[in-house]
Amino acid sequence: MNDLNDEWFARAQRVIPGGVDSPVRSFSSVGGTPVTVDHGKGAYLYDVDGHRYVDMIQSYGAVILGHADPGITSALYDAVSKGTTFGTPTRGEVLLAEEICARVPGCDQVRFVSSGTEAAMSAIRLARGVTGRDRMIKFAGCYHGHSDGLLAKSGSGVATMGLSGSGSGSGSVTEARYLPDSLPGSAGVPVASVSDTIICPYNQVPSRDVLDEKVACVIVEPVAANMGVVPPVPGFLQGLRTACNAVGALLIFDEVITGFRVAYSNASTICGVIPDIYCFGKVIGGGLPLAAFGGRTELLKQLAPVGPVYQAGTLSGNPLATAAGLSVLNRLDEDAFAALAGKVDSFVAGLQAALSDAGLEATVQHYGTLCSMFFGTSNAVSDYDAASASAATGIYSKFFHHMLDGGVMLPPGPYEALFVGLAHSDADLDYVLEQARTAASKTAMHL
Ligand SMILES: *Cc1c(COP(=O)(O)O)cnc(C)c1O
Repeated sequence: MNDLNDEWFARAQRVIPGGVDSPVRSFSSVGGTPVTVDHGKGAYLYDVDGHRYVDMIQSYGAVILGHADPGITSALYDAVSKGTTFGTPTRGEVLLAEEICARVPGCDQVRFVSSGTEAAMSAIRLARGVTGRDRMIKFAGCYHGHSDGLLAKSGSGVATMGLSGSGSGSGSVTEARYLPDSLPGSAGVPVASVSDTIICPYNQVPSRDVLDEKVACVIVEPVAANMGVVPPVPGFLQGLRTACNAVGALLIFDEVITGFRVAYSNASTICGVIPDIYCFGKVIGGGLPLAAFGGRTELLKQLAPVGPVYQAGTLSGNPLATAAGLSVLNRLDEDAFAALAGKVDSFVAGLQAALSDAGLEATVQHYGTLCSMFFGTSNAVSDYDAASASAATGIYSKFFHHMLDGGVMLPPGPYEALFVGLAHSDADLDYVLEQARTAASKTAMHL
């Protein structure tokens, strides 16, 4: 029985567009009614009808310790009793900034903001301010939040909604695109806002005639995780670094998903490439609205009040969010990541076997502790064209609903990563795999 769920969602739709505050939560690509959550505990979600789900969304990676973690909860109780926001400097933001800078190579300073969108938007403003150039390069299928200039060929919800801004018919990006091809990925974004955005295929270093002296910055997810999980091919990130250096463009790693998720610090420590500017979010807020961008002091000092690049926020560095963030980072030591990597390795192997044994053509990809499924292909997926071809098979929706019926909450769209976290016990993951075997055979039967 889903009586209360249906009732709440009907009410939601009356007063909130589509009943959701972020399109990625809607079930528009998989069909059906979103699950309205009453509460979460560890690896589980409980809906308003009392059903329990093993949660593989984990707020899209924002709660790496699981829901209502006692350590974070008590840090929040302490913080909340002292006041929720002041509009002044606080110790918490200093401690969290010190912790991030200590872990991340080439990151001397960070500025806190409240969302990954703001982090990426501000990082680009900083890059433009520092270089005095306007152009930016982004890669098809990478998502950097919903600011105007970045909403072109984005992954995640933008792709799911079919709003990826394909321009002239075909959605394929096989070479760099300028206007009029790189049309905005959303209504309401002026063409002028994306006229300085160049879209390039992921995993290919743009050639010199594209990445030239007019380019302020190249922004990239060092491990793409918003078109499913698409790891960088060897040489891609190194190639970007070299190409940016050659023309004086800044390299921005958007690590809003990967930061403190794929490793003790971030993807750059695995790939050995250090960007000029980092963006962080999700994990570092411990489940509260917090994100950051950072880099070398000589760059960050270009920000107001020291420098000419303006950037601000009433709730930036919010004391509750920094308390949660510090609490989570304190728990994320090397041992925690080793444990998580072990869980993900065996989960990925089990998931691949579950799908293949049922006769479903599918590839499970992973990088560090991030993973996702691509249906309808047995080949490695290395760019947005391949990811969209997999999504277009529609197989994900079927599998998704069988899993949901079995008490497993997958993200309601084929472009999202699966989030195995520290709250998932081996038994929880075994349960997910058992459901995956059943769901895969049911899906295979009705193809
Ligand atoms: C989630 C995400 C964002 C946007 O963050 P919000 O907090 O949703 O604004 C930006 N970049 C990447 C890589 C993300 O995964």
